[in-house]
Amino acid sequence: SQSQPKYKRVLLKLSGEALMGEQEFGIDPKVLDRMALEIGALIGIGVQVGLVIGGGNLFRGAALNAAGMDRVTGDHMGMLATMMNGLAMRDALERSNIRTRVMSAIPMSGIVEHYDRRRALRDLKDGDVVIFCAGTGNPFFTTDSAACLRGIEIDADVVLKATKVDGVYSADPVKDPSAVKYETLTYDEVLDKKLGVMDLTAICLCRDQGMPVRVFNMNKSGALTRIVVGEAEGTLIE
Ligand code: UDP
Repeated sequence: SQSQPKYKRVLLKLSGEALMGEQEFGIDPKVLDRMALEIGALIGIGVQVGLVIGGGNLFRGAALNAAGMDRVTGDHMGMLATMMNGLAMRDALERSNIRTRVMSAIPMSGIVEHYDRRRALRDLKDGDVVIFCAGTGNPFFTTDSAACLRGIEIDADVVLKATKVDGVYSADPVKDPSAVKYETLTYDEVLDKKLGVMDLTAICLCRDQGMPVRVFNMNKSGALTRIVVGEAEGTLIE
């Protein structure tokens, strides 16, 4: 039987690190192909997919700053890193025959289009994956904030944050075996318990606009599809 999607439009956030696979740096094309397969499954059941990709596999402004670089310059480099990841993701998606549009918050004429919300909405309705690059376009923000911002702007039903673990835990499950996974959390619980799922800017934006966030494990094959058809995966913050 065909699964009937619960969500019509989602904003998926992939961290840059997710693209590294087992590597220490950069992009693993095998990982991209697997992501393309997972995303293609959503398109296949008629779900509209907006994508925000991080840049942490290449550069992070805060890390460059800690090593002595000017923070704003570092953040600019971080945003350019998200652009490279976006191009790589588009390549993988298009090789899987999924029409993909890349839009950047920072104009980069000749390579990608400048972000245009109405254009993005038209493309999403046409069944194209739309990748939003360069974060918010501003230093001192993160791509988590960009994901929440774009998710709200395109009126997504949910922001899906892909991670390496199965959801939000009371402690780091890799280091602490007694850590328990939360099925649901409120935005205020995330803030009060200092759960560090996303930065405060991102969580507060979602809280203020009532945008639900689901944190899930993208390494689990089929998890993304299970979520959009309404199965419990990961942790829901709302
Ligand atoms: N960044 C920025 N403004 C934004 C989004 C990102 O300056 O709106 C920069 C920032 O330096 C950040 C880097 O881009 O460290 C990469 O993004 P992020 O750390 O969010 O990537 P992820 O952790 O998801 O891989």
